[in-house]
Amino acid sequence: MLVLRHQRGTPPTATAFVEQIGERILIVACMAREPEHHGLVFFHAREISSFCPMDTTPAFPTLRLVTHPLVQHKVTLLRDRSTPTKIFKELVDEIATLIAYEATSELALEPTPVETPLERTTGMRVSGKKLTLVPILRAGLGMVDGVARLVPSARVGHVGLYRDHDTLEPVDYYFKVPGDAAERDFFLLDPMLATGGSAAAAVTSLKRAGATRIRLLCLVAAPEGVRRLADAHPDVLVHCAALDRELNSQGYILPGLGDAGDRLFGTR
Ligand code: URA
Repeated sequence: MLVLRHQRGTPPTATAFVEQIGERILIVACMAREPEHHGLVFFHAREISSFCPMDTTPAFPTLRLVTHPLVQHKVTLLRDRSTPTKIFKELVDEIATLIAYEATSELALEPTPVETPLERTTGMRVSGKKLTLVPILRAGLGMVDGVARLVPSARVGHVGLYRDHDTLEPVDYYFKVPGDAAERDFFLLDPMLATGGSAAAAVTSLKRAGATRIRLLCLVAAPEGVRRLADAHPDVLVHCAALDRELNSQGYILPGLGDAGDRLFGTR
């Protein structure tokens, strides 16, 4: 997705939405090379915030796009085919941290007493059991350290899924998460939400293990994947840096960034 212009005021295509969002800034995004979609993909942001979470379009109610300029800049570097493996890995790590900042913004808090050097007061802390990160192997591994930088006490589970190249359906070969899944928040990690098959299967496995609070953190999503995951699991929010145009016939995201696993691990 290419954001061509930002504006205050009311583009003619968006009047209905402006009525819904009142005082806020409206940002109209144009789909690259798809002028017919102009104005259909849009989001709005809090005026004073420099870190602008996206509220969703009606078409993608589970999607939360992270629109911070640094995230968009770094995603563009990721897309560049000439970005070497070392830099690609660092960028995935950094973007994962920035997405995690957004995805953790609604974690429940509870008051806790704290002694400052001067007096006793009441602070806040994240309540409940430790957050659990679950990378989908193997590309999801590239996001673990970036998220754990913000949540160092997080537990880490693993889901092993690969995509059958003929059917494009996920085949599961490994699953391990903490035993008390029902009491934890889960962040499923996978850089690419392509067909949505792997993400939906991973969520199904997590729910089978007892998980009830699951979010997916990804870097680039295809509309097809967002829809498929939302159809299968409407309770799972997707925090993502870019919503791209479409999938190609091999299930790769366009314009995308290629095979994230290969680019992360240098196996191209
Ligand atoms: N997986 C990837 O790594 N890239 C895509 O474009 C789609 C799925």
